[in-house]
Amino acid sequence: MKKIRLYGNWKMNMTRAETTAFMSEFARSAKPLEAVMGRNLEVAVFPPFTSLWAANEAMRSVSGPMPLLGAQNVYIGDHGAFTGEVSIPMLKECGCTHVIIGHSERRHILGEGEPLIAKKMRACFDAGLIPVLCYGETLEEREAGRAFQVMERQLRSAVEPLSADESAQVVYAYEPVWAIGTGKSATSAEAQEVCAWSKRLLAEAAGRDIGTTVLYGGSVKGSNAKELLSMDAIDGALVGGASLKAESFLEIYTAYAGS
Ligand code: PEP
Repeated sequence: MKKIRLYGNWKMNMTRAETTAFMSEFARSAKPLEAVMGRNLEVAVFPPFTSLWAANEAMRSVSGPMPLLGAQNVYIGDHGAFTGEVSIPMLKECGCTHVIIGHSERRHILGEGEPLIAKKMRACFDAGLIPVLCYGETLEEREAGRAFQVMERQLRSAVEPLSADESAQVVYAYEPVWAIGTGKSATSAEAQEVCAWSKRLLAEAAGRDIGTTVLYGGSVKGSNAKELLSMDAIDGALVGGASLKAESFLEIYTAYAGS
């Protein structure tokens, strides 16, 4: 059975207290999966900045299986006059190993552009964090037949500053914007088509087959997990809404693999 990555993007949800409670619940719910965690299953959660330390403390004090920790965004540079931003050393101090880069909500609501996303990708490798690069088309772009053109630009610009070895370590997450938080997932065939195409594109950009990891994100939950995760080009899921409760989050894996 292939290794599944199950990553939970909490967005602007979960206080410190809720984060602590989630981690205890996670340790209980993940007990039956302990044997596969780290081997067939890699789980990570991405709390808001203010809850990262609570997650880190819980990881050290709660006994039982724990997820890896990541942040939802980061800025380039170690420190300085960047009001409202958080640096890679600050995230690493909280125990983060991963960071989401270029989520569609940052691209479309907060105006983050491809040049900054590329700099963030470079900064992650310079300072030792694994980027989870989100990309995907809007409904308008899909209906206009421009989805692949948009995604090609998003992917090529993000990996442009990376070596082939670095590009191979990125976790890519195909997230069609029209499927995020809408309850309307892409079909397994649509998601498979894009994930397989992405792997070919990234291999071509790197100049060789780099064994890329590509997740699908967009309204993944227990009821559609088996169909999506069984597709051979899909290596896991980036999950928003269903990741806020440990039980519904882990149900995504058990629905795929059987409990
Ligand atoms: C996301 O935030 O990346 C996401 C996929 O959200 P949801 O699962 O709620 O659609």
